[in-house]
Amino acid sequence: MTSPSNFDSPRRGRPAGRAAAKADVFVLSCMDYRLVDDVTAYLTQRGLDERYSEVRIAGGGLAAVDGTRPNWVGTVWENLALSRQIHGVRRLLVINHRDCSAVAHRFGRAAVADPDAEFRLHVRICQEVVDEAMRRDPTLEVECGFMELDGRVQRIVTQPPRAGATSSPIAAPDRRAAFTERVRARLSGRPIDRAAQFDLLRLGVTEHGLAADEADAVLRSTVAESDGRLGRDTELAVESFLLSRAGRRRRVSRADFEAAARLLRMGNETGIDGIAARQRVKGIMGRQGIRPRPVLWPPFSRRWYNQI
Ligand SMILES: [Zn+2]
Repeated sequence: MTSPSNFDSPRRGRPAGRAAAKADVFVLSCMDYRLVDDVTAYLTQRGLDERYSEVRIAGGGLAAVDGTRPNWVGTVWENLALSRQIHGVRRLLVINHRDCSAVAHRFGRAAVADPDAEFRLHVRICQEVVDEAMRRDPTLEVECGFMELDGRVQRIVTQPPRAGATSSPIAAPDRRAAFTERVRARLSGRPIDRAAQFDLLRLGVTEHGLAADEADAVLRSTVAESDGRLGRDTELAVESFLLSRAGRRRRVSRADFEAAARLLRMGNETGIDGIAARQRVKGIMGRQGIRPRPVLWPPFSRRWYNQI
C-alpha cells in the first residue's frame, strides 16, 4: 500500500496541483553526469530555482546547431518554442562545459586537446547558437556560459548589445585598451605559458567584458608586439632539453644541437627557418654556458658550430 511517506524527498508546504508558474529561462546544458549537480547548483546560486525549464542533451549548445543530428536540433528548438509558449520564457541560457565528450566526438580529440583551442571552439559553437536563435526568434535573449569541471562558469559574450542598450558605461575601445594594458603588465619580462595565456583570456572575457574572440585578438597582437613571447615556452622547452643532454660537463653533441633546432621550429608558432632556429639554439646555449662537443673529423673541430 502506498502512502505519501513513500515518495522520495516530498516537498513540504507546496499546494498539490498548483498551476504552472511562469519561468524566465530555458536552460540548455549537457547530459554529462559529472556536472549535472553543478549545473543545478549554478542555477540555484543565480536565484533561478523554479524559474527555469530545461533540456539536458549531449553537447548542450552543440545539439542546437549540429547539422549531423537534425533530430536533436529539432528537439531543442521545439522544446524551447513550447516552453516559451506555455511558461513564457524570454531567455535561453546555454551551459557548455570543459572536456565535453560529445564535442570531442563531433570535432575530434585533437580539436579540444589544447585548453585555449577548446574554449575557442565552444565560443564558436555558442556564436552559432546565438545566430540560430536570432534567426528563429529575434526577441529571444541568449546567454552562454562555459563550465569548468570544478563547476565554475565563465560567461561567453557572443551577443552584441541591443541598439540603445547602455548596460556597460565603458565603451568597447576602452575595454580593449584596459585589457591590452593588463596583458602588457603580465608580459613584462616574464615568460608566458599556455596556462597563463588561458588565464588572461578568461580575465579578458569575465573582467573586461570582451567577447572571447575579441580578447583572443588583443592577447595575440599584444604578445606579438612584445617580442613574440608566445614562442617563449617553446624556448624554455628547448633550453631544458639542452640542459638534460649537456650533463655535468655542459656539452652537447651536434646531433643534440640539431634536434634542439628541430624542436624549436616545431614549437614556434610564427614559423622560422632552419638558420634562424640554429642561431636561436646557439643563443640559448650561450646564455646557459653550454658548449658544443667537438666532432671527431676534422679532429676536435667545432667549426660546424662556429659557422652558425
Ligand atoms: Zn558534455
